[in-house]
Amino acid sequence: MDNSGTVADHDGLSAIFDRISAIGAHSGQGVTRLAASAEDGAARAIFAEWMTRGGARMAEDAVGNQFACFDWAGENAPWVFAGSHLDTQPRGGRFDGTLGVLSAGCAALGLQAEKQAGGFKSARNLAVVNWTNEEGARYQPSLTGSAVFSGALPLGEALALRDGAGISLGDALAGIGIVGETGSVPPRPEAYVELHVEQGRTLTEAGCRVGTVEGTWAARKMTVRWIGRAAHTGPTPMADRCDALLAAALGIAAFEAVMAEHYPRLHRSAARLVVEPNSPNVVVERATVWFELRGLDISELDRAGKAVLTAFETAAVDTGTRLEVSADALRAPAGMDGGLVAIVDHTARLCGFEPLAMRSVAGHDAVALQNSGIPSALIFIPSVDGIAHHPDELTLAEDMQAGLTVLTAVLRHLAEGGYGNGQAR
Ligand SMILES: [Zn+2]
Repeated sequence: MDNSGTVADHDGLSAIFDRISAIGAHSGQGVTRLAASAEDGAARAIFAEWMTRGGARMAEDAVGNQFACFDWAGENAPWVFAGSHLDTQPRGGRFDGTLGVLSAGCAALGLQAEKQAGGFKSARNLAVVNWTNEEGARYQPSLTGSAVFSGALPLGEALALRDGAGISLGDALAGIGIVGETGSVPPRPEAYVELHVEQGRTLTEAGCRVGTVEGTWAARKMTVRWIGRAAHTGPTPMADRCDALLAAALGIAAFEAVMAEHYPRLHRSAARLVVEPNSPNVVVERATVWFELRGLDISELDRAGKAVLTAFETAAVDTGTRLEVSADALRAPAGMDGGLVAIVDHTARLCGFEPLAMRSVAGHDAVALQNSGIPSALIFIPSVDGIAHHPDELTLAEDMQAGLTVLTAVLRHLAEGGYGNGQAR
């Protein structure tokens, strides 16, 4: 494959990255750009304006996924997608997702210029994609937009999801002007490529600039609720109380103890707690906790899940509350597309990098698409100190450049038809 030609424009990437990073930024508190919020709407508008100015045709599907389309090869030609997400966690970092969308945009603009100069002939159309609600901070489940596009989640179900304030995703999208499909949305692509920051330290510790993700860890996500009885915190005799918050506290402590003793290799968290009615003068009636386990081995996650559910039941019995498991979903470990992984690996070497084959602990849109049968690749670049979902999240300029260089070369190869023409699926 030919990787000479355009050096994708890193200055251009920095400029648009700074513009988008300012949306939802608060001094010392990172970036808050929740899916379908006003801030998300503002970032989407800048992305669309930037891509349109660069010659793209914008389209948007009914769940708000944005497609900046470069119709290079005609109506009947297959598509290649590249992208990530512009939404963030509350007080999140600047790089997670945003870097992937904007790098893909820069790569596309570089290839467009190269194509116009006659330096490259495309046999594929290219779309730069911003997937809706990847983070799952405002709406659960995460990876909403990519799951709807790939058919894993029905559109109606996605639009009916409610945030913590009871606002549906459909209403929130309408609030930022997204009501149904606009423009001609491209079909399922032949290949999808996503550049993302690692959110860990593996690349730095290995002394590598570029990672080719071979697959992901599995995850088990459980939403558990203890139901007690509301009562006055003053006069109600202690023996009569059924305190759901006490049950949740015991449950969380038992979860920690069981996992630390028997499953120390699994990553674990209890990271969200909702208490109702949440008044200082009412014994808590309902306490809901979101638990997560991540590991490589599904059978280990299965055993660990059973063990913690038993501990949760004990916490219920000990407090006179009732346990309700409102969600218990297992996300299988995914293997990324072997043919695409090989292309990324080979291309990175041609670009002068020694890529590290690695696994992703976190889920990404590329994983959701791959799981739904769209051949997908995920390219990692280093995160300083592995910090993620925090205002201090940082990826160095030279690593951003490395990612952009490899992504551009991979997209050029795919746009030339380097994957679809007889390559093994
Ligand atoms: Zn992300």
